Amino acid sequence: MPSLIFKNLVGQQRVQDVLSAAYANGSLAHAYLFSGESGTGKLQAAVELAMGVLCKNPEQVPCYSCESCRKVLHFAHPDLHVVFPVYLHGDMKDSDGISAKGWEQIAKDSRKLVNSPYATLNYKGIPNIPVAWMRDVNHAVLRGAIEGPMSIIIIDSVDMMNKESANTMLKVLEEPPENTIFLCLTDKHHAVLPTIISRCQNLRFGYVGDAQISDALSRLSTRELSGEERDQAVRYAMGSVGRTLFLLENPATEWTVQAAELLRLCMEEDWLALADMIDTLSARENFGACEQVLIHFIYQVRELVLKRGPAPEKYITSTDFQSLDTPRADDLFRNCRQAIAAIRARGNASLVLVNFIIAVMETIHGKKRQAY
Ligand SMILES: [Zn+2]
Repeated sequence: MPSLIFKNLVGQQRVQDVLSAAYANGSLAHAYLFSGESGTGKLQAAVELAMGVLCKNPEQVPCYSCESCRKVLHFAHPDLHVVFPVYLHGDMKDSDGISAKGWEQIAKDSRKLVNSPYATLNYKGIPNIPVAWMRDVNHAVLRGAIEGPMSIIIIDSVDMMNKESANTMLKVLEEPPENTIFLCLTDKHHAVLPTIISRCQNLRFGYVGDAQISDALSRLSTRELSGEERDQAVRYAMGSVGRTLFLLENPATEWTVQAAELLRLCMEEDWLALADMIDTLSARENFGACEQVLIHFIYQVRELVLKRGPAPEKYITSTDFQSLDTPRADDLFRNCRQAIAAIRARGNASLVLVNFIIAVMETIHGKKRQAY
């Protein structure tokens, strides 16, 4: 049996050890659930495991150069199926579910994800996993592997399935045909159906160390990076390789600017401007915006309080924050985490934001001055 070595997965030593040992013993489970924060390498691990299982190299897999590995990298291997949430709109849909144009978009995004598993897909609307796609994958799985020894199905964001898609998937997951491996991924373990969790072997992806991310950047980033640029992105990304790359590719992100603006308006208690901002962020077409801004809000506060890096002077000066002690910063982090949880539980976004802003003002200015 060749040995399974993860070449591009950053960190996650325990996960690597568990999967390599299972591969070596011929005891890979028929279903795994990889859970952990976005950008920690779940998809990277899934793609490399799939490549490894299908690879034809006799000594070490995946080799990244045999015919099978090349097919996986071009997303042209008939035994690898990848499913993830998509936002299909307009002529991407038809009466059967997904139109030819929709399938084209899916193929394009699939290739992108398999090639750069740490990349972030940007959605313009609320994405989900269409049942037509899940049915298509089921057919392929029941038909059996064509070229390799196994069929491998990667389902990214398995928590974002509607009931119909989940039921379709469960039909196969409950009694999987031989030689099938399901790799289900999620960054919201709490939102995954218990029937899925109970059928999978669970593997947890933790945060990746700053030094490991920094080392990996030279091979993952598409451009030359200065030392300072690299340090700042790593610090800011808090243990997520995907987020580090995203920040490097989008240096002054819209989210950074909006989060800084939100913090400034809360400090100035500018309700009029805040009301405008709440309207914009909670608009339906801005799916994901609230959560992104809240996450960046945490970074802003963290950077300012820990003074580990330069304050974003353009928007707010660090002297504004001199009165903010650690307990109050902790309160702000808690406010953010609660608001993110409420948004993820599909709470009413504008109501969540109003409550969040009131809580932040209480924390910054003290209880007596809030809510006139
Ligand atoms: Zn190979």
